[in-house]
Amino acid sequence: MLARLRQLAAHEVGHTLGLQHNFAASTTNRASVMDYPAPLVKLGTDGLPDISDAYAKGIGEWDKVAIIYGYQDFPAGTDEGSALDKILGEAFKRGLVYLTDQDARPASASSSVAHLWDNGANVIDGLAQVMKVRAVALQRFGENNIREGAPMATLEDVLVPLYMYHRYQVEAAAKLIGGEDYTFSLRGKGDRNPQIIAPDEQKRALFAVLDTLKPENLALPESVLRLIPPRPPGYARTREDFRIRTFPTFDALAPAEASSFMRAMRSIRVLTMCSISFSPRRGKRRCDPAIKVKYSAQ
Ligand SMILES: [Zn+2]
Repeated sequence: MLARLRQLAAHEVGHTLGLQHNFAASTTNRASVMDYPAPLVKLGTDGLPDISDAYAKGIGEWDKVAIIYGYQDFPAGTDEGSALDKILGEAFKRGLVYLTDQDARPASASSSVAHLWDNGANVIDGLAQVMKVRAVALQRFGENNIREGAPMATLEDVLVPLYMYHRYQVEAAAKLIGGEDYTFSLRGKGDRNPQIIAPDEQKRALFAVLDTLKPENLALPESVLRLIPPRPPGYARTREDFRIRTFPTFDALAPAEASSFMRAMRSIRVLTMCSISFSPRRGKRRCDPAIKVKYSAQ
């Protein structure tokens, strides 16, 4: 918790110094406190979730570049324009990337690296890791997740963020389907033109997203379902709980519905782009025939 607050404090100080979000930073070794950090949870050698490296410590490589760019004093006679170009040019050569809100937030965002609350140099690999951690954590979920004496119904309140732990990483992976790799390239600077994500990588993203819809990834363990009674007075449901259709009983299907609705929307976006409502020309360009594959459980 303190590690998260430390990161948040640095983030807000960054804004006061004039920095914008850099939502591509998590794909380059957590290079900025100006990204939104998802807790990086690994599985330890004992197979249990390990949160010892959940949040990065200190400011990132991109933050140093951004502050030097904004605040560096140059000796008299320095060509400031060229000096500033050099600072950024060297940073981009080192593999750092800068993309911000407009590249990450829209549902139609297409960048392969600008995402909120994601982890990993490759977000598809990051999703595989997240699903493994989630599965272990769900198997271990039980009454120990709430304080002694708390209503058992409030288990749902702590189940929601765990069950939906993969949601942002799924969004990130889904953006690679029909996505592109781009920077704010400048004329005459040798910057790369935008690249459409390779068909094989788009396919891998598609399968990874569809895997999250497999029954074993949607169903709650029977042991969890048996634990959650209706809520007592004074513990009203909030928008942070699942949207149930069986009030007052906990709805065993509501979590699966919440999880799959988001994915379905993404998939629909892709299918639509590839077929009818989008410009057919752009749809053709963005959706190589090679990615039109029939999905089968792997
Ligand atoms: Zn911010």
